[in-house]
Amino acid sequence: MNSNQESNMLICMECGPTMSEVLTNVDGRLLCSSCKFENESSHIYLTWDHISQFVHRLDHMLKLSCHMYGHARIAGVSRGGLVPATMLAHHMDRHDVVSIPASRRKIEDGLFEARTGRVDQKLHQSDGNGWIIVDDILDSGATFETLRYRWPRATFAFLTAKKLEDGIYIGEQFIGSTRWIVFPWEDV
Ligand SMILES: [Zn+2]
Repeated sequence: MNSNQESNMLICMECGPTMSEVLTNVDGRLLCSSCKFENESSHIYLTWDHISQFVHRLDHMLKLSCHMYGHARIAGVSRGGLVPATMLAHHMDRHDVVSIPASRRKIEDGLFEARTGRVDQKLHQSDGNGWIIVDDILDSGATFETLRYRWPRATFAFLTAKKLEDGIYIGEQFIGSTRWIVFPWEDV
């Protein structure tokens, strides 16, 4: 390597000196082209077409497995579950979708707004019977586990899951990966 090449060398904030001819800003860090590629491939970007197919299949699964399907009410876990819950409601021709305010951070803290009654009155008073509770992703399972404690007779449905689970919950889109899943409603 001669001194001329060396002086042209760029410094990638991930791998250091690089032969790459351009650095790109990825989340505030200037990265070479190969680090940019690796960084972006650590995310899975789902499209509306994926979501539409997932909801369609989830609706089909619920039809087969949920005895309350014909007159079930629908609740979405805020925020991520609200969009799939609404789409599912269109499939099932339901006019109401109820929100369960349960942020992931609060779940980890064990502090559930849902437990304090800040949910729809009918859902609050029920044991979950006749309700389908929808979330966007089944990750550790902590969200559904806690909600199931509160509404033991509800049907729990997920749009996607990071790992296979034992079949308590309904859904089929397993994305076995440590990659970060980005839903189209998050990618704004
Ligand atoms: Zn690099």
